[in-house]
Amino acid sequence: MSTQIKTRFAPSPTGEMHIGNLRSALFAYLFAQKNQGEFILRIEDTDQTRYQEGSVDAILGGLEWAGIKYDGEITYQSKRIAIYQKYADELVKAGHAYHCFCTADDLATMRQEQTADGSTVTRYDRRCLNLSAEEVKAKLAAGTPHVIRLKVPTGETEFIDLIRGKVKINNADVDDQILLKSDGFPTYHLANVIDDHEMGITHVIRAEEWLPSTPKHIILYQMFGWEIPAFAHLSMVLAPDRSKLSKRHGATSVLEFKNLGYLPEAVVNYIALLGWNPGTEQEVFSLAELEQEFDLAKVNKAGAIFDIEKLNWLNGHYIRQKELGELTKMCVPYLQQAGYLDEKSEIRNQGSEIKESFEYIKLVVGLEQERLKKLSEIGERTKYFFVRPKVDQKMLVWKKSTPAETQERLQFLLEFLATVPEENWTRNTLEEVLVQEIKKRGYGNGDTLWPMRVALSGEEKSPSPFEIAEVLGKDETVERIKMSVN
Ligand code: GLU
Repeated sequence: MSTQIKTRFAPSPTGEMHIGNLRSALFAYLFAQKNQGEFILRIEDTDQTRYQEGSVDAILGGLEWAGIKYDGEITYQSKRIAIYQKYADELVKAGHAYHCFCTADDLATMRQEQTADGSTVTRYDRRCLNLSAEEVKAKLAAGTPHVIRLKVPTGETEFIDLIRGKVKINNADVDDQILLKSDGFPTYHLANVIDDHEMGITHVIRAEEWLPSTPKHIILYQMFGWEIPAFAHLSMVLAPDRSKLSKRHGATSVLEFKNLGYLPEAVVNYIALLGWNPGTEQEVFSLAELEQEFDLAKVNKAGAIFDIEKLNWLNGHYIRQKELGELTKMCVPYLQQAGYLDEKSEIRNQGSEIKESFEYIKLVVGLEQERLKKLSEIGERTKYFFVRPKVDQKMLVWKKSTPAETQERLQFLLEFLATVPEENWTRNTLEEVLVQEIKKRGYGNGDTLWPMRVALSGEEKSPSPFEIAEVLGKDETVERIKMSVN
């Protein structure tokens, strides 16, 4: 029987959940799903100085939002300190690690000396490795602050990265990494290796930034005599200018994307394509499809450029797929935020007689569903359905028309629309009867329908006047046209 595949997502709770973290989680999850394996969540919270309140919630919330489910219980490394200490002691006993009593000052002087000749690389010079067993014993007995360092062996370390191929490094380039800090807490390297081993992780799928740490990890596996897992380092998520995607490029955290009104389906679909190439023309993938199709062998090692236009396109796609009632519910918080609805989702009375109901909001959202790229745009796009627009007189005039002609058309519309019975007040019928009447009178569509649309919306661009009129209803439509007549 082949071993069951097991992957993990091992975030450190050090702040917001970056979109790159979500991608690491997604790829590890998808690889496990694809291979009927397991996927676990481990919180690497041993660095007390970098811990940030609320970040575990951000991680859990981000995973849940994206639909990424983990197996079993969450592990917190901070609850496993004794285990790491025990293993560190074992390494010392076996001669693979040693106590180091150097102070911060000692190390600073060492660095200064090493860089005096202009060199940029510094290494721990192993002075504590020369201490005799008695000296070490005495210092420990005296309670001298110390760390435990890895004694990097001579030779080379080599491994096959599933994305990058063979990686080889000269051990002379690897510093004697601290494994256990003076406060007794493990460093990332020690805890990460012990846990990946103890938890039976078969495939370590993580961000490229950890690639330089991997030789240290491999050395640790070898010293413990443990089986080495497979590694796959995902390329960096880059901004269009090829620098690391950061705040100055816009949204970077999962929460920001969520708040902007990106749907989880779109974000998951998009980040799956960041580096992964399905090898076909298909671009739209549900999570369930990704679980079937994802293939680590088709992950690219080149940096993946974050293309917000593509995300917007996918988001528009998933918005169009939504059932209108559901989409409306999702838009309500954004309309509330914009101040158009009160907390009970009723339309705020802005001095107009607009209907107050969910059904009305649904009609409004329905008009924008085709065009909407993110939910946060809904307020800006539909504000005139909630607040009567202040119409710019100049905008009312169609480009090939005149103010006098425009007023004449508006007067016509006012009189004509009043004669259209309520049961004919639908976009199609309105269009039919209006266009017919315009023709009969020898008017033009542009010089009549443009001012109608602007009178109703106050906007340069909007849905057609018939659509707007249908949603506003007869009374409000007539009222708005009246307000534009001088
Ligand atoms: N705790 C590391 C992080 O925050 C995990 C790296 C790894 O997956 O090994 O990214």
